[in-house]
Amino acid sequence: MLSAVAGASSMFIPSLGFFGGANAQTAASPSGNTGHYHFRVGEITATVLSDGIIGGPPRIYASNAPEVELEEVLRQAFLSTEHMTLNMNTLLIETGGRRILIEAGAGKTMGPNGGRIFDNLAAIGLGPADIDAVVISHTHPDHVGNLRTADGSKAFPNARVFVPKADWDFFVANDPDLSYMPVPQDFRTRFAANIKSSLEPVSRDIELYEAGDEILPGLTTIVAAGHTPGMATFLVHSGKEQLLLTADLAYHPVINVDRPWIPGPDRDKETALNSRRRIFDRAAADRIPVLGFHFPFPGLGHMLKTDEAYAWVPANWAF
Ligand SMILES: [Zn+2]
Repeated sequence: MLSAVAGASSMFIPSLGFFGGANAQTAASPSGNTGHYHFRVGEITATVLSDGIIGGPPRIYASNAPEVELEEVLRQAFLSTEHMTLNMNTLLIETGGRRILIEAGAGKTMGPNGGRIFDNLAAIGLGPADIDAVVISHTHPDHVGNLRTADGSKAFPNARVFVPKADWDFFVANDPDLSYMPVPQDFRTRFAANIKSSLEPVSRDIELYEAGDEILPGLTTIVAAGHTPGMATFLVHSGKEQLLLTADLAYHPVINVDRPWIPGPDRDKETALNSRRRIFDRAAADRIPVLGFHFPFPGLGHMLKTDEAYAWVPANWAF
């Protein structure tokens, strides 16, 4: 893909910090490349809307990888050994006269290269007021950051916002102990504060859900706890067609699918591992198309079961 050319230049920019800048790509998108991608799931119109990119040291996302092996795997995949770039692929589904956004994206809560979702909505002729529901997999800032405008009001003024109850209880209703996260303390403090402030404008009429049900027509939540106490993944379905969203079961396919390394931000690593295996197995066995929130844009492909683990097979681009 052409975007790989733009991405390659980032390897020569020194890392600026955790999850943040460190990439040559700017919010102005000088390349003019698209950040939206249309496809269908049966009768449902689906559009991946990029919110841009975040990233950080690869070690954060592959906590148990042997150092030498991690560097070798990154080199073989032509990826930087210094900085891992992660996309944010939010998904808009249009069904039954409703527009449902799955994940809100980071905005500027995790560095300067988020917040593109509004430009990408505009590019397909929509504005934030056209969104009827926003469904969040878990309340990390890169999934809820865009819920708040710069002046502190609701960014999607007409949307019902759905958040997993166990994440609300852990991150919002209480002061979370984030000592399990392999990042500096000042990062954890900002991370926790950004979750609360992002959700504050929608707190009065929030819909707290427990995963396992069809919460909107064509959208079923799947229990995927471990990364956070309440993380859910999603099945979009219409007739015989399905799309499985994996949220943050994996950050990057090279290190968390092709290699089974454990994301450092997983709070309960054993439970997260079980969720990952159960949902990846389902995707592979039933040959369900998959959308990875943080995978290279647009993040669509399939999970292939291999003797040892899985392999990520990106989908062909469709015009
Ligand atoms: Zn994430």
